[in-house]
Amino acid sequence: MSRSRPDTATRARIVQNLARRDGARCFYCRSPFAPDMTGVTLDHYVPRALWKTWRQRNLVLACSPCNTAKGSVLPWTVAALLLRNVRENQLWRDACAGASSPSV
Ligand SMILES: [Zn+2]
Repeated sequence: MSRSRPDTATRARIVQNLARRDGARCFYCRSPFAPDMTGVTLDHYVPRALWKTWRQRNLVLACSPCNTAKGSVLPWTVAALLLRNVRENQLWRDACAGASSPSV
C-alpha cells in the first residue's frame, strides 16, 4: 500500500488517522475542516517526486488551495534538515576540504 495510491476506504482511514494525529485542520494554513472532512486533501510533505510513498509519516491534511500552492516543492524545514545532515557527513566535509585546499 505504501507506494500505490490508496483506495477510497483506505484513504478515508488515513484521513481519520491524520486528523487524530495532527488535528482536523489544514497543516499549512490551520483552517479547520468540517466534521465530514469536506474539501480535505492528502498532501505529501516530502513531494512524491522525491519520495514515492503513501506512508502516513509523509502525509498531512491540506486544503486544496494550500496543496495546490505547495505543489512539488520541498518544505524548507526538510531542506534545512537534509542540508544539516549533509554538512555533518564526513565524506562531504572531506570533499569540501579537498576543493578549498588543492593538493600540491
Ligand atoms: Zn490550507
